[in-house]
Amino acid sequence: MTVCNKCQTILTDKNWSPSTKNRFHNICKHCEYLYRKQFKPSKKEDPEKWQYQNDLTKLDKIFTRLEMIKAYGVNCVHCGENNPGFLVLDHINNNGYLEVVPNGHDFNRMLKRHGFPGKGTQLQLLCHNCNAVKEYQNNRKLGTEIVSTTAEVYIKQDYSISEEETLALKQQARYFFEKTEKRPPAPYPGRPKSTTPNISI
Ligand SMILES: [Zn+2]
Ligand SMILES: [Zn+2]
Repeated sequence: MTVCNKCQTILTDKNWSPSTKNRFHNICKHCEYLYRKQFKPSKKEDPEKWQYQNDLTKLDKIFTRLEMIKAYGVNCVHCGENNPGFLVLDHINNNGYLEVVPNGHDFNRMLKRHGFPGKGTQLQLLCHNCNAVKEYQNNRKLGTEIVSTTAEVYIKQDYSISEEETLALKQQARYFFEKTEKRPPAPYPGRPKSTTPNISI
């Protein structure tokens, strides 16, 4: 028998989320909700902090995508296109459909945890055009495309970038954020709005 270490309720399949259980955290769903709320309040409770947190999540998602693009070589491997907005990560063996990414997580983040593996052997950067050509040439419609029926297994590798490179990517992430949202990211609640760009994410 396991009990919640906050409220001492007996943990069952009903009040213990599977992902929490798998990570060996003895905390019930309700206490977990209260714990998370401290860091991310609802829109109603604290709209400013909510907006700030939301923008932070968006910025981080863009940042991780830019990191991924850098790690996989910046350019489309066929035509050299380097506009991040036009680039996609292609599964060389056409088995992307087998990729299982846990709910609420994104693929780029998963790759980052593995040190962005498989460059040129499992994954490659393509622009949308070249990706479409790959599909066309492979006759996806005719069903003659060679598709691997097993999911990729990624070998974890070391990955790091310098502080300057991180800063440059953060600035770029902010640029893309402002381009899509048509506004700068929300400032930390209570902090006076500065005129210098806030590049912390
Ligand atoms: Zn509890
Ligand atoms: Zn291309």
